[in-house]
Amino acid sequence: MPHQAPSTAPRAGAARNPGDRPAIRLTGLQKHFAEVRAVDGVDLDIPPGEFFSMLGPSGSGKTTVLRLIAGFELPTAGSIQLAGRDVSTLAPFDRDVNTVFQDYALFPHMSVQQNVEYGLRVKGVGKAERRQRAEDALRTVRLEEYGRRKPSQLSGGQRQRVALARALVNRPKVLLLDEPLGALDLKLRQAMQVELKQIQREVGITFVFVTHDQDEALTMSDRIAVFNAGRIEQVGTPLEVYEKPATAFVAGFVGTSNLLSGRGAEAVIGRPGVFSIRPEKITIDGNLASPAGPGETSATGIVTDVVYAGSTVRYAVALDAGGQLSVVRQNISAPTEFADGRVRLSWRREHSFRVPEAG
Ligand code: ADP
Ligand code: MG
Repeated sequence: MPHQAPSTAPRAGAARNPGDRPAIRLTGLQKHFAEVRAVDGVDLDIPPGEFFSMLGPSGSGKTTVLRLIAGFELPTAGSIQLAGRDVSTLAPFDRDVNTVFQDYALFPHMSVQQNVEYGLRVKGVGKAERRQRAEDALRTVRLEEYGRRKPSQLSGGQRQRVALARALVNRPKVLLLDEPLGALDLKLRQAMQVELKQIQREVGITFVFVTHDQDEALTMSDRIAVFNAGRIEQVGTPLEVYEKPATAFVAGFVGTSNLLSGRGAEAVIGRPGVFSIRPEKITIDGNLASPAGPGETSATGIVTDVVYAGSTVRYAVALDAGGQLSVVRQNISAPTEFADGRVRLSWRREHSFRVPEAG
């Protein structure tokens, strides 16, 4: 059963005064393309100024939700409110939102400054104001020195920031970002994650950020919605979604899937069901006889695989009771120490928790 975080579930009593109005409210939102249910009943409130991420695998409906909010698609059913106003059937330019796409779509023949000014020019904003606002937007994205360059004279990260400036210059209430960092290499991507979050804090605009990368969502977001097959499985803070996944799908998608079920669960946990334990919560020990501490759960098994990842080492352990667990350990000693050996795993009882079965 899909779980809704307490902050979004109870609609009654919400928004009594205008200041409480969510920046975005989706109610029973559906979008079908012929027989494909791209969006299959989404209810969601996003408060003003939040950095909100939509996380999910490819094809789970994230982009379609974003396009519905922007007005590039019309819903099959349900409604979209922006700051309390129903915009479900309004044209994109009648909605106070802007979108930043992964392919920046900058005009190659225009300078950076002209690219940023372009939207204002189309709207008929005068030259002096246009220039001032474009300069402000370029300063916000730390590109004030680059206004005269052409997009081809910029790095990928800088082009991405120009695309952001081009959206910010319109001073929208809501900014929609569809995998905006997807084209960048890892180092640049991580730097931009930090920077984008800082910029969002500075400008105070509501950001709706789409990504399929769980680390990115966990790093950047105030709250995350985890999408699966056109529906939201869980909404919560990064901590809630990671530490207390509401479904087996969320447990597997946000973080490493480390589930115990069936015979293994009964023997180790002591009751039937599907249980999730995060790999970094598990201690691995070569001494099988160490006593279990109070409040601890333990299981013995054999190491079947050791993956060396520099700062960490990951062990796959086949449990004697059945099932397999993955253990992540900080690389503080010889990384091959448990290779092919028998080990004892232990973790605090509250770190294994039951997740509802899929279906
Ligand atoms: P995501 O952004 O999470 O990868 P999308 O929202 O792009 O997912 O797609 C959700 C589903 O809707 C996919 O099965 C996709 O193929 C389908 N879809 C999206 N846009 C269209 C369209 N214009 N016509 C037909 N099917 C579409
Ligand atoms: Mg997409």
